[in-house]
Amino acid sequence: MKLRGIHHITAIASEPQHNLDFYAGVLGLRFVKRTVNFDDPSSYHFYFGDRTGRPGTAITFFPWPGARRGSRGVGQVTATSFAIPTTALEFWKSRFKDQRVLCEQTATRFGDEVLRVADPDGLLVELITSPHLDDVDLAYKSGVPREFAIHGFHAPTLEMKRFGRSEKLLQMLGFELLNEQNGRRRFAVNERSTSGKIDIVERADGEFGLNSAGTVHHIAFRCADEAEQEQWRSVIVDLGLHVTPIIDRFYFHSIYFREPNGILFEIATDGPGFTADEPVEHLGESLKLPAQYEPHRAEIERILPPISLDRP
Ligand code: ZN
Repeated sequence: MKLRGIHHITAIASEPQHNLDFYAGVLGLRFVKRTVNFDDPSSYHFYFGDRTGRPGTAITFFPWPGARRGSRGVGQVTATSFAIPTTALEFWKSRFKDQRVLCEQTATRFGDEVLRVADPDGLLVELITSPHLDDVDLAYKSGVPREFAIHGFHAPTLEMKRFGRSEKLLQMLGFELLNEQNGRRRFAVNERSTSGKIDIVERADGEFGLNSAGTVHHIAFRCADEAEQEQWRSVIVDLGLHVTPIIDRFYFHSIYFREPNGILFEIATDGPGFTADEPVEHLGESLKLPAQYEPHRAEIERILPPISLDRP
């Protein structure tokens, strides 16, 4: 049994409209779900991804208006990385320039080019070229031409005090060490899939990150179904880690636990997915609420700041 790669990455933002403008506008992802934080329905939960928000493409945000900035550090995913075609580098450089987004090209990483930008809340986002791209569905309206579009995740960076126990856990989860460069270790559950990879870096004297706007809240990995999820839960319990019961997130089922360096991990089922409560053509267009909050819709809509999908 091994995990199937990254399912989604969830981060904290501040202003909802700025978040939407950056991920749907500048990065050209599809806004696939507009819902609320199931644990706090007075705030939004946004999902962006490919046409259907397929696992491996989905980045999600809790936008908290006025939230203070957090800090990146140990115990966090410190860079959220997406795959782009090798021919797309110049396109993205000039797009970021046109959109007045400061962009830096760093040294190559395992042979691939890396462009680095910060989102409106300071979240570190990387676009990494890859000769092998995951199969994603780009048949949706976007300001980014399909030939240059983002193709899901590519090896995000996880920062740790000490590799030791975390590395053992990753191996239990099905990750294998692929490569190492300048202290960065690349692990994969699927060598041919960019969203099947993660990078870990060790900073023994690094500060722990503070989780607020502009930082990643958790990273979720894919499992096939509820039966496999039950098995994963037992494996994690046996390792002596504290893991939540299976939680129904409506679009998938989830368990959560902190890995030994403190990074919040989730294991989520592939299904039922974002078309469970609205047709694929209309994903993200209206506010979707889970059944328990539907009776409070008027009140919730009054609290949530208005957002617009049609901004230039
Ligand atoms: Zn999650």
